[in-house]
Amino acid sequence: MSPSRTARQPVIPAKATRTATATPTATPTARTTAPAGLPVAWEYAPAPESRDVVQLQARYGLFIGGREVAPRSGQWFTDLNPATEEPLAEIARANAEDVDTAVAAARRAQRRTWGQLPPRERAKYLFRIARILQERSREFAVLETIDSGKPIKESRDVDIPLVAAHFWYYAGWADKLDYAFPGRTAHPLGVAAQVIPWNFPLLMLAWKIAPALAAGNTVVLKPASSTPLTALLFADVCRQADLPPGTVNIVTGPGEIGMALVTHPDVDKVAFTGSTAVGKEIGRAIAGSGKALTLELGGKAANIVFDDAPLDQAVEGIVNGIFFNQGEVCCAGSRLLVQESIAELLIEKLKDRLGTLRVGDPLDKNTDIGAINNAAQLARIQELVAAGVAEGADLYQPPCDLPARGYFVRPSLFTNVAQSSRIAQEEIFGPVLSTLTFRTPEEAIEKANNTAYGLSAGVWTEKGSRILAMTKRLRAGVVWANTFNRFDPTSPFGGYKESGFGREGGLAGLLAYVRLEDR
Ligand code: NDP
Repeated sequence: MSPSRTARQPVIPAKATRTATATPTATPTARTTAPAGLPVAWEYAPAPESRDVVQLQARYGLFIGGREVAPRSGQWFTDLNPATEEPLAEIARANAEDVDTAVAAARRAQRRTWGQLPPRERAKYLFRIARILQERSREFAVLETIDSGKPIKESRDVDIPLVAAHFWYYAGWADKLDYAFPGRTAHPLGVAAQVIPWNFPLLMLAWKIAPALAAGNTVVLKPASSTPLTALLFADVCRQADLPPGTVNIVTGPGEIGMALVTHPDVDKVAFTGSTAVGKEIGRAIAGSGKALTLELGGKAANIVFDDAPLDQAVEGIVNGIFFNQGEVCCAGSRLLVQESIAELLIEKLKDRLGTLRVGDPLDKNTDIGAINNAAQLARIQELVAAGVAEGADLYQPPCDLPARGYFVRPSLFTNVAQSSRIAQEEIFGPVLSTLTFRTPEEAIEKANNTAYGLSAGVWTEKGSRILAMTKRLRAGVVWANTFNRFDPTSPFGGYKESGFGREGGLAGLLAYVRLEDR
């Protein structure tokens, strides 16, 4: 990425508000003052994070039985940096035999080592992993950004701290299962097959591995093919923590390897995060097998703003809701429902705010919107934006240059969106916000629930009673009030309808990895 890319000069109106934000912006290095009401130019010097902390291998094998091994297929695929389209490393392409070996290693560890450890010993390992993740957090943050395209300030300040927090949290539960499930004895399920996506690569690993291990299970995990690197670095953490070999196994390869893994006859539990289409395929494939299943799939969340909401705060929440991680977030607030009486003002403020967002080099500490994760996802976003325009909605994109290479999209705001249009119904999974209006709370609820999904929602109002009334009737697993996209390991997360079933996080996340027996 050329450094000059970040030296562009976005023009923002002087009246634009810049209140405290969940995707914080940096102090400008120079400011040209202008008469009130005229545009003010902001310039930012490049502030790239150093890549030196990351030592990339030319090739990464599979992690099975505590060792890095070559794939039996003898095949490798190339992992790209989405911000530059440059190759990062060659990654092993597992075949069904490798999956078989990995599941056998996990089974052995479950029977002989990990599954036999006293709970307090399991806790010690998990605490050790959490500590190592914190010690190596910069390395993980830079690697995550290079591999996924997300801004470094997000991987550094959100993803990696949450990853460590999940290990700390579930480490605490490992020797307290009797208190977690009073009057009942918790047994591990056995071997867990876990398939994760590319939008929060290491965080999704943590959501799945930490509760599984705390409950005494062993795992075989398949990361997404476009973001395998932090999972493979996590393999190194497992070695550093002296985790018994086979407790965690990582196999890389295409979707069919994910399918081979989840349908393997010696797997007891399946956990999947990704598209609704693949989630349904997995559900069909393992139906009747007796395997436990949790699915965390797509979303089309409504972010509902009432006329009594603190508007500047709501603008920041809307921006964080849809532009965090380039909008590649299953619970993104991708549908803005705004009360008609304040719609004009709110949209004006939102447009001003969009003009301040910096799109570009994900490693630059000032970047707000990084690269889209892969070429297929970029094409899907572009196709849906074109569909929105063709269907008659009004598109606003702030003027900003995009890098010449890499997968980038301008932040996009649609107004005049029909409830039936594709951009109001389909998950775009990109920095694209579709705006609809409502007059009454009843209409807001009806529109918010008019979707095949049910993962998350947001409500902005100063009335506590209205928040409670709305949250009761919104069909969404998570409802944020006067905030958005807040995550915490103690808090369960999951969906209704086509957003999947089962919960991850908190005690509910632990429940998904145990079999309970009455005492
Ligand atoms: P997928 O659902 O295809 O990928 C998620 C994971 O599943 C990856 O590890 C993938 O492997 C694996 N996988 C793919 N096909 C199969 C299969 N048949 N059986 C088992 N595992 C499989 O998501 P996409 O990358 O195709 O993204 C498409 C859309 O999905 C996005 O536009 C977005 O709408 C949604 N999505 C939702 C996510 C969420 O957090 N809920 C996350 C990612 C995407 P591989 O990478 O090798 O293909």
